[in-house]
Amino acid sequence: MAEIDQEKPSVKALEPPLSSENTPVMISALQHYIYCPRRCALIHIERIWSENRFTAEGRLLHDKANQLTVEKRKGVRTVTAMPLENEALGIAGVADVVEFHATAQGEQPYPVEYKRGKPKEHRADEVQLCAQALCLEEMSGKPCPEGALYYGKTRRRQVVLFDELLRALTRQVITDTRALIDSGKTPPAQYEAKRCDACSLVDDCQPKLLAHGRNVNAWLQKTLRE
Ligand code: SF4
Repeated sequence: MAEIDQEKPSVKALEPPLSSENTPVMISALQHYIYCPRRCALIHIERIWSENRFTAEGRLLHDKANQLTVEKRKGVRTVTAMPLENEALGIAGVADVVEFHATAQGEQPYPVEYKRGKPKEHRADEVQLCAQALCLEEMSGKPCPEGALYYGKTRRRQVVLFDELLRALTRQVITDTRALIDSGKTPPAQYEAKRCDACSLVDDCQPKLLAHGRNVNAWLQKTLRE
């Protein structure tokens, strides 16, 4: 699994505790959940955040879209750092960029999310973007059939269609993430080299030590005896 595009902790990761029934699930939590449920729990239940090279680079890339601005050019109104919410689904977050394209039916929202890396094997980025689209549809009352992911490594926009499959996946991830957060329980570590070695929480998580139910006390006793 490729490294996750970490989000800036000051804006998206370290938001208010999420365990209350009436508190929306942050869109960033969905991305963390897909990458690793334990990572999601460490950040959104235990409130742990560590920054590594990947998070720092991701934060720098996001910083240019970090302040609420509105500008209009060639029929496209562009809003940066736009707060989003879907009350019915109980999700909220901040979009890097939302373009509003002029159509015969009025302005149509088009979310664009910036990522430091390249397209990945998992669908976390698409689910994040689709969750933004679900918010924009509820907020604007207009359809949002597609958006785009901009990757720093390829310097290209990748168009994402919000088809029924992606919408269903996003709704399922929202349900699963809410269940995890409401449980208040952090799942055990499952060490996977590619995923864990790129995770900024590897030192807090200790996946090699705690994976597969290894007994920490037994390990400590053994270490002390040596
Ligand atoms: S180190 Fe691995 S198991 Fe631990 S939170 Fe990160 S990805 Fe998940």
